[in-house]
Amino acid sequence: MTEINPRASLHAEYRESVRELCRGFGSDYWQRVEAEGAYPEAFVKALTDAGWLSVLIPSEYGGGGLGVTEGSVILEEINRSGANSGACHAQMYIMGTLLRHGSTVQKERYLPRIAAGELRLQSFAVTEPTTGTDTTRIRTFARKQGDRYVVSGQKVWISRVQHSDLMLLLARTTPLPNVAKKSEGLSVFLVELNAAAKGMSVRPIRNMVGHETNEIFFDDFEVPAENLIGEEGKGFRYILDGMNAERILIAAECIGDGYWFVDRARTYASSRNVFDRPIGKNQGIQFPIATAYAHVRAADLMRYDAARLFDAGQPCGGEANMAKMLAADASWEAANVCLQTHGGFGFAAEYDVERKFRETRLYQVAPISTNLILSYVAEHILGRPRSF
Ligand SMILES: Cc1cc2nc3c(=O)[nH]c(=O)nc-3n(C[C@H](O)[C@H](O)[C@H](O)COP(=O)(O)OP(=O)(O)OC[C@H]3O[C@@H](n4cnc5c(N)ncnc54)[C@H](O)[C@@H]3O)c2cc1C
Repeated sequence: MTEINPRASLHAEYRESVRELCRGFGSDYWQRVEAEGAYPEAFVKALTDAGWLSVLIPSEYGGGGLGVTEGSVILEEINRSGANSGACHAQMYIMGTLLRHGSTVQKERYLPRIAAGELRLQSFAVTEPTTGTDTTRIRTFARKQGDRYVVSGQKVWISRVQHSDLMLLLARTTPLPNVAKKSEGLSVFLVELNAAAKGMSVRPIRNMVGHETNEIFFDDFEVPAENLIGEEGKGFRYILDGMNAERILIAAECIGDGYWFVDRARTYASSRNVFDRPIGKNQGIQFPIATAYAHVRAADLMRYDAARLFDAGQPCGGEANMAKMLAADASWEAANVCLQTHGGFGFAAEYDVERKFRETRLYQVAPISTNLILSYVAEHILGRPRSF
């Protein structure tokens, strides 16, 4: 396959190293983790120790000093190997909030320890049960009291809390009726989870993809005021800033999944004989695989375009959103084709197809649903009125 990444040769080395690491965590490993309902701790530790999860931290803080393009190549390779980046991807995309808006003191305190693998920044608490995608209406409130903020409220779907040392938390600091614009009055805090005993309780949510994700209840939970990121009331903008990176990195994971499904489908189509011929000789099997492949490749181009703009510091909201949507659609199509190509065996856990099928389905909904991306494109690119 010809490479479509303009910096492919630079990235070949990263790809090979990530692949090598992932080879140590094959199908048996992922099936065991899922059967035990466990977190892939050994896998995340290996990625952390190898420095792959701190590539976006600037080199002066001990990180890799690489861009989102390289980050996306790493996550793509993880998913392309059959593994699941969902256990650890957030460190890459939430890092930007601390990097761009954290104080020098905060960066010096946390970034070198994150880069060294001593601390994990894997958790990001935005979503709430009563407000869903309508983020500016969140109800979790942080009230300033002397040198601390006292937080009360509830979050839902907060992933990796039990395997992270730090969590970015979005809360209201000025009540909604008291702000001129609803995006004002929200603030971001860096919460030290290890110190968080009193006032915070975590309830795991069993789910379709075995993702470590939770409901969190805050009841007069205290966060030191020095852990406020940037200015009070400006948090929504800080979170939005990080979203383009998140979209691009998730797109790359979907592309990794898409290539994995296409590879598995074509391999199985060559080896499975029915009616005295490999099923892959039939156009009814070939064409859906070929269509899925074409769609993954097209989404891959949009991913590189978005990543290039992001790394050049140029606006890339449209490209990042479209890359995420196209890649999520392409991986979901490839997942369906792969399952269908495998017939009944696609449903057997030992083939990994059904696990990856469930995992890639998530990206139609999280971290942003397809409808909300279409709405962004309609409003911000095509100039249509906002419909809600
Ligand atoms: C496994 C998992 C892990 C997650 N991890 C995290 C995490 O770590 N941190 C975090 O903060 N969140 C996390 N989330 C939450 C995730 O980001 C949200 O589920 C997602 O943004 C969708 O929000 P919602 O579930 O509240 O859906 P809702 O906002 O309730 O929407 C429900 C449906 O209605 C559609 N819809 C809503 N409004 C409109 C409209 N105006 N026009 C058309 N359609 C509309 C949506 O597209 C969606 O399909 C996770 C979710 C899951 C499932």
